[in-house]
This record gives sequence, structure tokens and C-alpha cells, in this order.
Amino acid sequence: MPISSIVAIGDELVGGFTLDTNSHWMAERLRLLGYPLKRVTQIRDKPREIIDQVARELDDPDVTDVFLSGGLGPTPDDRTFAALAEALGKELIIWEETRARIERRVQRMHSMGLLESPELTEGNLRMARIPADPAHVFKNRRGMAPGAIYKAKGKRIFVMPGVPMEMKGIFTEEIEPEFLSAGSAATVRELRFTFAVEARFYPLMRELEESYPDVSVGSYPNFETKELVIRVLGGDPKRVEEALEVIRKRAPA
Ligand code: AMP
Ligand code: MG
Repeated sequence: MPISSIVAIGDELVGGFTLDTNSHWMAERLRLLGYPLKRVTQIRDKPREIIDQVARELDDPDVTDVFLSGGLGPTPDDRTFAALAEALGKELIIWEETRARIERRVQRMHSMGLLESPELTEGNLRMARIPADPAHVFKNRRGMAPGAIYKAKGKRIFVMPGVPMEMKGIFTEEIEPEFLSAGSAATVRELRFTFAVEARFYPLMRELEESYPDVSVGSYPNFETKELVIRVLGGDPKRVEEALEVIRKRAPA
């Protein structure tokens, strides 16, 4: 059974400047594709912290796929690839295909009058510098930073840019069809109760935990709509349906 983890990298996320919408978006996609998440971690653009987090993910026996986003930009504060190289014990190399693509893009922008020089800058070149031996390098039609896949300790590490539009483009066009097509999504069913007292569901939920250990039952109150959502999730649709039926019959609301 595939289990994923996300590492969202960026000082702006941890500092509360930018909401980590990438992780939220990926968490849903991964669940629907049958590669559900074990955890999401947000960390700073600090090489040591990136290296340590990658090591932690690689050491986790549950995790089969790791998704990194952020820190692939052209400025010195983007350090994901350099840190990943160290974590994997690989050299940083210039990926020629990406360098050539960035060069064509810079030349095109120059001919349109958007850039002063047609020459690649150190910033441009930075984005083509990736750890050696990628299992796959993404094209990223929407931007310059390429993104790539590495394999280590039997896991796949997907590295994507942080720019949401680029991340989503790579994910849906380049990752999903080729690398995430073998999963099978869990069944999710919900029941909604208006003005329900959440605490009164305690005994029933305790009981379901024991009789349906293969099904997860969560209670999510919404204080604006005054609705309590009971969400039932599991790999076997029949078991999910059965558990749902127990709740429907015995709900205290
Ligand atoms: P980066 O790839 O780190 O250079 O990120 C480029 C831009 O993408 C940042 O300035 C953020 O505005 C945005 N960004 C990065 N990571 C995330 C994320 N996890 N969720 C939403 N936006 C992000
Ligand atoms: Mg960044």
C-alpha cells in the first residue's frame, strides 16, 4: 500500500506570510489517486533542516513516496536541490536538457524585449543545477525550475517548484499519468447532523473504533453552519457502508 508524505519548504510558509496551499491541494489529489498521506511537514529554507527532514522521510518504513515542494527558484534563498544532493550523497550537476530549455526561454524573452541580455545569468543556471542521477526530470511547461524524481531506500522522492501553478501543472500533467496511476482511492462517506452535540457521539465512535478497525471515523464540527460532519473512510467500500449504517441508525442527535 502506497503512503505518501509531503515536505513543504519555504521560510514564507513557516513565517506565516504564505498559506501552504500546495500541501492542501496535493493532499486531496493524493488521497483521490490512492496515495494517501501520512503527514505534511513545513520547514524553512535551511539546508541542514532540509537534509534532516529528507533523512527522516527516508527512514520512515511506512512512507513509499515523498513530495517536496519549494526552494527551486533562481535566488540564493532557494536551496532545496543543493540540500537534497547532500541528503542523497550525490553531486550537483547541470542538467543539460533543462539548461538548454532555459536558454531558449531567455533568448525568446530577450527577443520580445522582456530581458536585456540573451545570456544565461547565474540565477538561470542555478535552476538547471540538480542532484546527479535523477530517475526522471520534469519539463515544467509553465516555468524554468524543472523539478525531478529521485529514488532512494526504495522510495520515490518527487521534487517540485513551489509556485502553485507550476507545481499543479507538473503534478497533473507529468506525475499523475505516469507515476501515480496504480493506486486505488479510499471510499469516503459523510453524514451531516445539524445542531448535534459532538460529545454525545463519543460512545458510538469508541465502539466503531473497535468493531471497524479498518475504517476511520472522524467527527468535524463546523461552527458557522452548525453542522457536525461525521466522515467515514476506508479501503473496503462495503465496510465503510456498514459502519455508516451503524452511525445512521444509532446517532444520538
Ligand atoms: P519557490 O519555489 O520556493 O521559489 O516558491 C516560489 C513561490 O511560490 C513563493 O514565493 C510562494 O509565493 C509560492 N509558494 C511556495 N511554496 C508554496 C506552498 N507550499 N503553498 C503555496 N505557495 C507556495
Ligand atoms: Mg522559496
